[in-house]
Amino acid sequence: MKEQKIVVIGAGVAGINFATKLVDNGYPGELITIIDKGNDPFNRQPEEVMTGMLGSGGWSDGKLTYHTAIGGVLSKYCGEDKAMELMDQVINNFRRFHPKPEEIFCSDPQAEPDFIKPYFGLRLFPVWHIGSNYLHEIAKTWYSYLVDKGVKFEWETEVDKIEFANNKLHYNRMWHFEPQSEWINYDELIFAVGKSGIDFGKRLADDYQLPTEPKSVQIGVRFEAPQKYFQKLIDISYDFKLYQKFNNVSLRSFCTNNNAAYVAVEKTYGDISYNGHAKKGEEFRNDMTNFGILMEIKGIENPFEWSREVVSKLQFRNIGLYYSPSRTPSQTSEGENVNVVQISNLNQFKEVMGEYADYIINFIDQMNKVFEFGNDWGMYIPEVKYLSPEPLVDYKNLALTDYPNVHFVGDALSARGITVSGAQGIYVAESFL
Ligand SMILES: Cc1cc2nc3c(=O)[nH]c(=O)nc-3n(C[C@H](O)[C@H](O)[C@H](O)COP(=O)(O)OP(=O)(O)OC[C@H]3O[C@@H](n4cnc5c(N)ncnc54)[C@H](O)[C@@H]3O)c2cc1C
Repeated sequence: MKEQKIVVIGAGVAGINFATKLVDNGYPGELITIIDKGNDPFNRQPEEVMTGMLGSGGWSDGKLTYHTAIGGVLSKYCGEDKAMELMDQVINNFRRFHPKPEEIFCSDPQAEPDFIKPYFGLRLFPVWHIGSNYLHEIAKTWYSYLVDKGVKFEWETEVDKIEFANNKLHYNRMWHFEPQSEWINYDELIFAVGKSGIDFGKRLADDYQLPTEPKSVQIGVRFEAPQKYFQKLIDISYDFKLYQKFNNVSLRSFCTNNNAAYVAVEKTYGDISYNGHAKKGEEFRNDMTNFGILMEIKGIENPFEWSREVVSKLQFRNIGLYYSPSRTPSQTSEGENVNVVQISNLNQFKEVMGEYADYIINFIDQMNKVFEFGNDWGMYIPEVKYLSPEPLVDYKNLALTDYPNVHFVGDALSARGITVSGAQGIYVAESFL
């Protein structure tokens, strides 16, 4: 094992699993520096959802999906068997630092219920439930382990420039009492910035003209209805994934929230889109269900620009749209109105989305046949997943094809969830070992 100075940008799920694999196998922690623009686990605040120790995984729902078809790309690089083995390692890491590992459980629905046939498929896959209320404790114990092993952390420190050719990067430390801006060198660089670093990743891809792999468009709406209509499916699979497949379009329900389910507003590139989250605690219960209905559309040239244009046209005075045959928009968990403009028909939606609007409308019509919610539903338009441009990497070690000592991992590469992000980190660490 060659010992070199390794810098990791991002103390998220991918970066932390990477470092853990190395020090577990005797790599000197002193040679590893992890830089993160967020806070350590003792100082991270609840509103810091995307940054700090364990990244967005640290403040997430703590659901570790356990299937190679879910949560982003893994088996493409290493094959199915290796992918499952890497995912086991990630789950074991969460178990190892868990204060009550015996409370981790796996839900594993086995059969598609007859009532959804013939309209939908139900994607069945195991999920390990870590318990979101334990994630902070896990983050603290995990952090202490790495610090004990000598790993150096730089918190509240944002990397804003990288010179790949000179093996150096620039950061700004945001401590008020000690503002600092510095260049440092590395032998190996792990780029693990997650979704909160999407703009930085894109800027690097543009500046260095990194070759990228084509990505599909992921766009749709956030559907909402009273939970009672969906209960029979929720009883089988809490975070159910209904899907339909056509030639170049596939649709799926995405990120289902129940019991205390709220619609969340996202602002990206100046436009509003929608997402959802579930709150814990009886006081938040509203007996609603919401989920995305997302289309993956293949074959669109410049999918990123196409999505941005569609999203910007699905706004009224810079606010997204809400359509329902009978309901009004819901309130947020803070008791405020969701920032949305109610529309009385779907003309604008159909005009902007063209034929793709019909796929969504059909999906809802067919759900209505199965779940019989009548007019008692609404949708927030649009929901979008801007997939970061996926740089072309060497499948052996996830290194950029032009810069073999720069490795991309996690959501910054092609992951979309905790297990796959962590597994990619471990995969790169194994290539070093
Ligand atoms: C609210 C929420 C709930 C979720 N729930 C689940 C779930 O239940 N199950 C699941 O599988 N997935 C879930 N996800 C997604 C999951 O959290 C991510 O896929 C996963 O954390 C990605 O890991 P990562 O290491 O690539 O990035 P992250 O975990 O996001 O970590 C990236 C880190 O990089 C740091 N960073 C970014 N840019 C810079 C920079 N320029 N300089 C220094 N540091 C930087 C950030 O501060 C952050 O700490 C959820 C996401 C959110 C937001």
